[in-house]
Amino acid sequence: MHLRIVPFFRDLVVAIAPASPPLYPPDPRMRLPVLTGVPSDDKFHDECGVFGVFGHTEAANLAYLGIHALQHRGQESAGIASWDGRELHVHKAMGLVADIFDQEAIGSLPGSSAIGHTRYSTAGSSNLANAQPMFARTTIGNVAVAHNGNLVNADELRHELAARGALFHGTSDTEVIVHLIAHQTRGTIDERIHAALSDVRGAYSLLFLTEKGIVAVRDPLGFRPLVLGKLKNGATVFASETCALDLIEAEYIREIEPGEMVVVDDKGLRTVQRLPPQRAGKCIFELVYFARPDSQVFGRSVYTTRKAFGRRLAQEAPVEADVVVPVPDSGVPAALGYSEESGIPYDLGLIRSHYVGRTFIEPSQSIRHFGVKLKLNPVPDVVRGKRVIVVDDSIVRGTTSRKIVKMIRDAGAREVHLRISAPPTRWPCYYGIDTPVRSELIAASHTEKEIAKYVTADSLGYLSREGMHEAARAEPRGFCDACFTGEYLVQLTPPQAGVVGEHGPREGKPTGAAENLTVLRA
Ligand code: SF4
Repeated sequence: MHLRIVPFFRDLVVAIAPASPPLYPPDPRMRLPVLTGVPSDDKFHDECGVFGVFGHTEAANLAYLGIHALQHRGQESAGIASWDGRELHVHKAMGLVADIFDQEAIGSLPGSSAIGHTRYSTAGSSNLANAQPMFARTTIGNVAVAHNGNLVNADELRHELAARGALFHGTSDTEVIVHLIAHQTRGTIDERIHAALSDVRGAYSLLFLTEKGIVAVRDPLGFRPLVLGKLKNGATVFASETCALDLIEAEYIREIEPGEMVVVDDKGLRTVQRLPPQRAGKCIFELVYFARPDSQVFGRSVYTTRKAFGRRLAQEAPVEADVVVPVPDSGVPAALGYSEESGIPYDLGLIRSHYVGRTFIEPSQSIRHFGVKLKLNPVPDVVRGKRVIVVDDSIVRGTTSRKIVKMIRDAGAREVHLRISAPPTRWPCYYGIDTPVRSELIAASHTEKEIAKYVTADSLGYLSREGMHEAARAEPRGFCDACFTGEYLVQLTPPQAGVVGEHGPREGKPTGAAENLTVLRA
């Protein structure tokens, strides 16, 4: 979809998602996941990547490269918005960055400032109406927005806005932010953005493209990362991760701080809001799994942190074995760390196919067991007759782990010991991560022993919460680890009594499940 003329809100079409019953009954003990063989990687998924550049004649080209580097943060849709001094241009579509943008599409995005976005849907279903950047014409000019995160009070705000006459085009919570800005009646565009955000709660790293420049904002707890960089010509760059800066040879300057709002325009770069230091809620799962290992996130090397997780895991969950094998790609740094610490040799006992696209045609029931084998295949010479330690970063439902263990055993391993470089994932995330409902999380209702039995491993070991924080040099008041602990830092609204963690954002509707369970750490 390419747009040059921006519609007024009154032109937007209302789209109301039908209410659907819970997907899973609330007795998880009776429902170990069914082995369907559908090629899901059984992982938590990050929601989005954002990128912005101000002050470069090839802004759209740079934005393309930036979101290409951030493709791992979302593969369902992507888009770029540019401002050429007269008009806002937007091109977005479903699919991967490289498939959406060709020379013609990039050429249709003139101007020296641009923002880009890659999306994996969490709140809101996966369709073009929810693709970003989203855009609007306010009474004082055009604005486009790219959002990484998830608002926990989006439903509440949506109802209030709808009661005031707002017409919603899609179901994404980002559209709520766009409407909130449009409803502001006073101040400059920067001031209106600032005022609009005072109503929202939850996780947001946001980039706004305005007619004057770019506004970058991170929520007060700083759940999702956002960094500032500089190109050789002096252009300002913003990105979810530093790997996007590396690709365009931009210098990393610093993180946008939790609660900080930065504006860059013809007057230069300035911080217009900086909240006093308080507890933060940086997502520790970014360090465990989401971010690219070559990135710096929250001021840490992701690769070095994952290796430290592996080292600590070897101390906490040792076992006699002959070889340490990673589940590629995400388990590689932790497996290296485990091997270094334990002295047990590291080897590549599983090979990953990098050519399994999202357009995979689901096989018929009779041959579905090929699912995980499409992605991973064991190397018999590495594992045959050996006691194998398999290192992965998480077990979500347990279905994939079970298949991996079986695969390695079938390839001739004598013993298979599973080691996880994070604590058990027991709770859904409400802050911009696609997680299954709680009853699907195997660790929410099963002990380590039961999980080991289910995945058919000879033994199972997780990294402890303390071990994770210490290895990541993550001060307890600086990070969110709610998916491991249930200690949610921002409460959901509206609360619904009697519902306990059964709905994740994947269903597009946080339910307030955690309201009665919230433990705000001192
Ligand atoms: S709940 Fe887990 S995935 Fe979500 S923000 Fe917190 S640490 Fe990250």
